[in-house]
Amino acid sequence: PARPLVADNVPQCLQNVSNIIAVSSCKGGVGKSTVAVNLAYSLAGMGARVGVFDADVYGPSLPTMVSPELRVLQMDAETKTIIPTEYLGVKLVSFGFAGQGSAIMRGPMVSGVINQLLTTTEWGELDYLVVDMPPGTGDIQLTLCQVVPITAAVIVTTPQKLAFIDVAKGVRMFSKLKVPCVAVVENMCHFEAEGKRYYPFGRGSGQEVVQKFGIPNLFELPIRPTLSASGDGGQPEVVRDPVGDVAKIFSDIGVCV
Ligand code: ADP
Repeated sequence: PARPLVADNVPQCLQNVSNIIAVSSCKGGVGKSTVAVNLAYSLAGMGARVGVFDADVYGPSLPTMVSPELRVLQMDAETKTIIPTEYLGVKLVSFGFAGQGSAIMRGPMVSGVINQLLTTTEWGELDYLVVDMPPGTGDIQLTLCQVVPITAAVIVTTPQKLAFIDVAKGVRMFSKLKVPCVAVVENMCHFEAEGKRYYPFGRGSGQEVVQKFGIPNLFELPIRPTLSASGDGGQPEVVRDPVGDVAKIFSDIGVCV
């Protein structure tokens, strides 16, 4: 018989997690991890209990973007479950904390490892688990969405021409899985110089995309040196500057997930 498209048996470790938010993109380098981590810390800043699962096996970003004291995952010897590390109260799991460096694995193996790590972690009680999805919309992503019941998806893209096709792919994947896409984040949209706003990749494609696919929210994230510097420096921008305009954008995203 065909496998159900959406997980019907919620893994034990995720049973007390109220919302699982997938942050997804079709390509690498568009700012997916930046959005995932800042969204997580923004939700935490609003008082929610939050976890982040960095599902990117090939290029885990979480260890660069946050600075937990403990940079390795611990295993509970008795229950054989993984104990997340923590930074500023947010629970964190990443392959980058698994101590093996960047992995060389084939697709099916990657799926197995992701699913194992996600479903044997002692997440405890969480209001939100933010999943930083591996880039793309292939088998690895599909399997992940089948193993855990994703509540909502946020799609990250950049304003270039191909963005439209990318978002279409993402929306199609999630709609097949009956997961609502609640927002598109158009990252690196504009920058300001000498008091003027510039749109280096053009304007308007985000609006077109959300209208076409009926996505209820569009967020424009500016190109901001501090966003990249704080990410590379181990402290999310919304933590560094919790009252800035970037923090405001993330709190708006947090409200819609
Ligand atoms: P992805 O997860 O899609 O591969 P990342 O979030 O790792 O992308 O971002 C790629 C690089 O771009 C990182 O160095 C990040 O700090 C930087 N970056 C992402 N978004 C912005 C932005 N809006 N302004 C400036 N730098 C950004």
